[in-house]
Amino acid sequence: MLTRFSYIAPDNLEEALDFLQENHDSTRILAGGTDLLVELYRGEQVENLLDIKKIPELQELDENDGLYIGAAVPVNALLENETICSVYPLLVEGAETLGSYPIRNRATVVGNICNASPAGDLIPPLLVLGTTVHCRSSEGSREIPLQHFFQGPGSTVLQAGELVAGIKIKPHPISSSSGYWKKSRIKGPDLAAVSLAYLVDFRQKIFDLALGAVAPTPLLLHLGEFLPGLHDDFDRNRGLILETVEERIKPISDLRGRKEFRERIVGAYLERALERIQGGEQL
Ligand SMILES: Cc1cc2nc3c(=O)[nH]c(=O)nc-3n(C[C@H](O)[C@H](O)[C@H](O)COP(=O)(O)OP(=O)(O)OC[C@H]3O[C@@H](n4cnc5c(N)ncnc54)[C@H](O)[C@@H]3O)c2cc1C
Repeated sequence: MLTRFSYIAPDNLEEALDFLQENHDSTRILAGGTDLLVELYRGEQVENLLDIKKIPELQELDENDGLYIGAAVPVNALLENETICSVYPLLVEGAETLGSYPIRNRATVVGNICNASPAGDLIPPLLVLGTTVHCRSSEGSREIPLQHFFQGPGSTVLQAGELVAGIKIKPHPISSSSGYWKKSRIKGPDLAAVSLAYLVDFRQKIFDLALGAVAPTPLLLHLGEFLPGLHDDFDRNRGLILETVEERIKPISDLRGRKEFRERIVGAYLERALERIQGGEQL
C-alpha cells in the first residue's frame, strides 16, 4: 500500500537541483521507478518524489568519443542503438539480461548503478569499460570513477543535494576480448547470484575483471600483470589469477545461493574467461 507523497516533475535540470538542495532530507529521486516503487509498495515512506525523466539534459545518449548515457536513458535505448550494439557488445550483453522487455523500457542505466545493489546487471560491464559518474548539484559538479561510487549494499558516495546526471564510458578498445556471464536462480528475469565481466585490451596489456553479488559492493580487479605470463606459462598464471580473485571475494549465503555455490561459479566463469583469452591470437 502506497502512502501519500508529493510528485514533482521539473522539465529543466536547474529547477530539479534547486528543489533537491532545499528538500534533500525528504526527497527521493525517481527515474524508471523499477526499484524505487518496489520499495514504496513495501512500506518505505517518502514525502517528495522528484521525477527526472522529463529533463532534456538527462535524456542525452551520445556515442561520439566514448559513450555518454544521461540519467533518464532507459536500458532498451542501448539495445535499440546500432552503434552501441556493434561497438559496446559487453554493455549490450549486460543490458539484455536485465529484467524483461517492459522492465527495460522503464529502468534506466543510471538507476541500476544508483540503486547500488551488488548484483546490478549493468555494473560489472560498466566497471571494466572504465566508467565515470557525472554528478551534479546546485553547487556544481564532480566526476567519480564508478569503482569508487559504491559504499555498501544500497549505499553510494552521493552527497545531500546531489544527483547523477549521467555516466561517461571510455572508447572501447579495438584490440580486445570481453565477456559477461550471469548466474541466477531461474531462467526468467531475476537478479544475479553471481555475475562476471572481463575485458582484455591486448595492445595495452590491460586485463580488467569485475564481479557482482560476491561482496558488499561490486568488485573491480586489475589483472594486467598476469597477461604476458598467460602466454608463457598458462597453468601457473591461471592458478595465480584464481588465488588473487579468491582472496578478494567475500560471498555470503542468501536466498539466491549459498556462499560455496557462489565461489564455485566464480571459479567456473573465470576458467571460461581465461580459456577465451588464451585463445586470443594477440596474447
Ligand atoms: C520485475 C523486476 C525485474 C528486475 N530484474 C533485474 C535484473 O535482472 N537485473 C538488475 O540488475 N536489476 C533488475 N531489476 C531492478 C531494476 O529494474 C534496475 O536496477 C533498474 O536499472 C533501476 O533503474 P530505475 O530507473 O528503475 O531506478 P529507480 O527505481 O527510479 O531508482 C533506483 C534508485 O536509484 C536512485 N536514483 C535513480 N536515478 C538517480 C539519479 N540520476 N541520481 C541519483 N539517484 C538516482 C533512486 O532514488 C532509487 O534509490 C528488476 C526490477 C524488477 C521490478
